[in-house]
Amino acid sequence: MSTREYQVCTNCVMDTTDSVIQFDEKGMCDHCHNYYENILPNWHPDEQGRKKLDEIVAQIKKDGKGKKYDCIIGLSGGVDSSYLAYLAVKKLGLRPLLFACDTGWNLNVAVQNVEKITKGLNMPLHTEIVNWNEMKDLQLAFFKAQVPYQDIPQDHVIFASLYNYAAKHGIKYVLTGGNNSTECVREPIEWVYQNDIRMLKDIHKKYGTIPLKTLPLCGMFKAHLYYRYIKGMKVVKPLDLIPYTKAKAIATLQKEFGWEPYANKHFESVFTRFYEGYWLVKKFGYDKRRCHFSSLILTGQLKREEALEILKNPPYDERQAMEDLEYVAKKLGLTKEEFINLMEQKNKTYKDYKNTSGMISLAVKAARLFGMEKRQYR
Ligand SMILES: [Zn+2]
Repeated sequence: MSTREYQVCTNCVMDTTDSVIQFDEKGMCDHCHNYYENILPNWHPDEQGRKKLDEIVAQIKKDGKGKKYDCIIGLSGGVDSSYLAYLAVKKLGLRPLLFACDTGWNLNVAVQNVEKITKGLNMPLHTEIVNWNEMKDLQLAFFKAQVPYQDIPQDHVIFASLYNYAAKHGIKYVLTGGNNSTECVREPIEWVYQNDIRMLKDIHKKYGTIPLKTLPLCGMFKAHLYYRYIKGMKVVKPLDLIPYTKAKAIATLQKEFGWEPYANKHFESVFTRFYEGYWLVKKFGYDKRRCHFSSLILTGQLKREEALEILKNPPYDERQAMEDLEYVAKKLGLTKEEFINLMEQKNKTYKDYKNTSGMISLAVKAARLFGMEKRQYR
């Protein structure tokens, strides 16, 4: 923990729990500056975006002629991916393969949402069920590693299974629900470290107990270089090319499919709920809601005062947290006491393990230099 005096941005709700946050003389933070200077000028959810989207869609349809599917969409059951599936089929006339990944943790409500969307759109769904013993081993290794980012194992597997499947089946276009509207303020790297296969393997080598034989894995260099340049795979983010707001998306999904929202943006599983609401908050003092709310504030979907009010309360109540702790511990093969003991050990970061952050930082800087990447890397 730093000894820095507490400060919260006067424009969003990011604060000094982000240890490298910088404030200008008006008290506005560098996340805000990044939004106004780098993201906003390059973001056109208007006529310009629509024109670009129409061009991309025409190309996807052309390339997909005669094929079973023209693109693939990873469907989690959350707002962004559900709305994306609706948009792709109903509004854009695409023929996506809907792809779900079962890591063993999904909440019923998420699974039901996936079913409702698939049925409602009358589109095929492929569900990849990952080997639970391997998944469990990797997750337990991450807890033992004492790092904040406990969502890396699942995120990695979900990402890798989708990309590997698309590459294997010659599906050229990957549509993602990633968007500025709900994600323009990114979590600081010390809170949520990136998809780094080198660190993942190092942590598993140190704390894992069984080999990862079947778990889908895919390094960033494989995804960004091999898949992109050799296999010609393209990642499209349609939600950044249209006017997209969370509240309207939810209303549409409820009306069209009887879709159900969750209590919080990423609470699609008990695991995520526990990790984001408890492990990250209690052990490290990082509250991911600050990033999510700040994104909504900057894009005019939430008032700063409202966000500050919500943040006065913990992400979820202590009783539910304890229930979840016991559930997570048991599922990972630990007793409640063993898990609590694990949680009390010394915090670590990616810097305690082999990683490629230096190389990735360099690559992003180079990309920024060539105008391929607008966002800051921090
Ligand atoms: Zn700010």
